[in-house]
Amino acid sequence: MITDTHTHLYSEQFNEDRKAMIQRAKDAGVTRFFIPAIDSNYTDKMLTLEKENPNSVFLMMGLHPTSVKENYLEELAHVKKWIDKKQFYAIGEIGMDLYWDKTFSTQQQEAFRTQIQWAKEKKMPINIHCRNAFDEVFEVLESEKSDDLRGIFHCFTGTLEQAQQAISYNMKLGIGGVATFKNGKIDKFLNQIDIKHIVLETDAPYLAPTPFRGKRNESAYLTNVVDKLVDIYGLSYQEIAEITTQNSKDVFGI
Ligand SMILES: [Zn+2]
Repeated sequence: MITDTHTHLYSEQFNEDRKAMIQRAKDAGVTRFFIPAIDSNYTDKMLTLEKENPNSVFLMMGLHPTSVKENYLEELAHVKKWIDKKQFYAIGEIGMDLYWDKTFSTQQQEAFRTQIQWAKEKKMPINIHCRNAFDEVFEVLESEKSDDLRGIFHCFTGTLEQAQQAISYNMKLGIGGVATFKNGKIDKFLNQIDIKHIVLETDAPYLAPTPFRGKRNESAYLTNVVDKLVDIYGLSYQEIAEITTQNSKDVFGI
């Protein structure tokens, strides 16, 4: 059993074949899907997915940093309303993204901090999105760190030192397609990170692993990432699947 800890199953890119795509994943042994939120536009689609796949789809709720715009306070209120109302398995994806646009960097950092505080209050894990913003993300984590805070550094693409720092804040590293890229860099040092800190993710429809790089990603392709971790860690396919699924259970509580 393999767990995809970060997949956007509700993406428009799956509108034509979503059911078949989920079945392909299950046939490949990928049977648990954790779904990060982006903003209020997707909430209804997420709730429908959960209803249709009660034992395999697990929802997160949160405001993605690239959706932090003029109306971010309204969007945060939407997140708060939902986490007060029903069970979600994490707050995410949250964090900072200074790759495309720095206009709202202050608000991004504030929204990140606010959502971390909610996670601590509710003892929920977080799912962190960090792009071109390690210093800013670590600044928040350093001031908010606590035994009550845990989660996943989604699509981890930093250095060994940044990996160790993330782990020091009770974060696991979300590893996906990038680990299979020729120039992905993280495959060079992952063997120095204990596998107990690793969870698997696709970030589908983005970041398809080799040999599908550049195409639409889907959860079934997680098997290619498992193959890569077999090489890196010298463990069997079965062991990688079991350990990373157990790690996902340790984070999400399910
Ligand atoms: Zn994502």
